[in-house]
Amino acid sequence: MSDAIIIGSGPNGLAAAICLAQQGVSVTVYEKAETVGGGTRTQELTLPGFRHDVCSAIHPLAKASPFLQSLPLEDYGLEWIQPDIPVAHPLKGQQGGALFHSLDETVARLGRDGNTYRKLVEPFIDSWEELLPDILAPFSPIPSNPILMARFGFRGLRSARGLAKRFETPRARALFAGLAGHGILPFNKTATAAIGMVLGIAAHTVGWPYPKGGSHSITQAMAAYLESLGGTIKTNVEITSLDDFPEEQVILFNTTPRQILDIAGPSLPSSYAQKLQKFKYGCGVFKLDLALSSPIPWEDDLCRQAGTVHLGGTFEEIALSEKDAANGNHSEKPYVLVAQQSLFDEQRAPDGKHTCWTYCHVPNGSTQDMTEPILNQIERFAPGFRDCIIGQHAMNTQAIQAYNPNYIGGDINGGMQDITQLFTRPAGLFDPYHIPKTRYYICSSSTPPGGGVHGMCGFHAAESALRQEF
Ligand SMILES: Cc1cc2nc3c(=O)[nH]c(=O)nc-3n(C[C@H](O)[C@H](O)[C@H](O)COP(=O)(O)OP(=O)(O)OC[C@H]3O[C@@H](n4cnc5c(N)ncnc54)[C@H](O)[C@@H]3O)c2cc1C
Repeated sequence: MSDAIIIGSGPNGLAAAICLAQQGVSVTVYEKAETVGGGTRTQELTLPGFRHDVCSAIHPLAKASPFLQSLPLEDYGLEWIQPDIPVAHPLKGQQGGALFHSLDETVARLGRDGNTYRKLVEPFIDSWEELLPDILAPFSPIPSNPILMARFGFRGLRSARGLAKRFETPRARALFAGLAGHGILPFNKTATAAIGMVLGIAAHTVGWPYPKGGSHSITQAMAAYLESLGGTIKTNVEITSLDDFPEEQVILFNTTPRQILDIAGPSLPSSYAQKLQKFKYGCGVFKLDLALSSPIPWEDDLCRQAGTVHLGGTFEEIALSEKDAANGNHSEKPYVLVAQQSLFDEQRAPDGKHTCWTYCHVPNGSTQDMTEPILNQIERFAPGFRDCIIGQHAMNTQAIQAYNPNYIGGDINGGMQDITQLFTRPAGLFDPYHIPKTRYYICSSSTPPGGGVHGMCGFHAAESALRQEF
């Protein structure tokens, strides 16, 4: 029996396992699926030769993650691709916005709002390395850079709607809406501005890159590195109870609270179990992957050079779409995220052909088919687009949860990321990773800093286990 077992091999489960193994702890990772990876797998979902990222595609957080960046993943096959432009945001009848790697270029594109944008992000571009460890960490009353965090909090701990008031032009407001929309929350919610800011700053520091060949390369490299450290990975093993493990076994759950209750409910302190029962899940996503005969015929030239394109039009349109999803409604004009990896990575599609990765936000548990609203949004900014489609594959929230049980009701962030759950999720404890009075830990995105491929939840959970168990 290993010193510690990890249930789940998502990026956080593997990060936790690596962090423990680096300190000489023997670890075994159990994974329900055939392969490691959780939300980072790449498959031929549509036609032979078209490699689609089933879940995550765009990886500013992986590139920013202090833990992932400390690992020799390039030695295990990981290669990053930086698209020419990190993200573009087209508008109808007027020039759209874009985030370039260069802050100056971005400022120039934003015209009248350029300097406002510069003032918002420049202080944090310059201090990105100092800011990151505090942002990608659990709440601490004494952050390592208190003044910097206070400055960031002053701007970020407000609603996206409030912060967007700084901008005068539809272009800058829309661009910011596209960034803040990644939070999957209505724009009047506290701290939705912070999500937009972090992603904006990331475009100018680490970019919004893709792994060559697909997002699976990240976790395949992590798994190979873990095995080089002596770790064991067992796939095709679903853990449904803890009956087969000794009581003193150290266990890290790369799962969300609902699954922890199912697997370990009777062994949890009852007050803690009650807190997990109250854990909130957020909106779901509807995912659509397309095989294309040619690149998307965007009207806006910048979109043709961008790795990621945010669709939905103006700030108000996107705000309405996010509010709809939160209120249990399906927007006819949803905010749509598009990634076009094959423009920069020849491994994604046969010669001359392309892939298109896209999703929109829907109510948790929705079974509505959002294919048409998504296609309409792309066609709106790329007339003739439908003629390029040669294959498609859709997943509603139920299909997404069936694919990965961590995506409860299609929630891709392991739980709602509102202000009540952002810093101390899942149970409001100072050490969010340790389950009190047990040798159990949570290392999934249901802990701080939350959703995304960065491995920082796994790293912090392993640090907590190292302090208390080994
Ligand atoms: C459509 C979509 C798009 C996304 N886009 C992005 C993006 O572009 N960029 C980004 O950074 N993030 C993105 N994400 C989010 C990202 O995928 C997740 O935040 C991330 O994968 C969470 O990592 P994790 O390790 O906590 O859990 P997961 O990656 O969910 O891994 C959990 C693993 O545990 C396994 N497991 C669960 N229960 C058991 C059990 N009982 N026994 C054994 N194994 C079990 C699962 O099979 C799974 O492999 C996206 C997600 C989706 C679905």
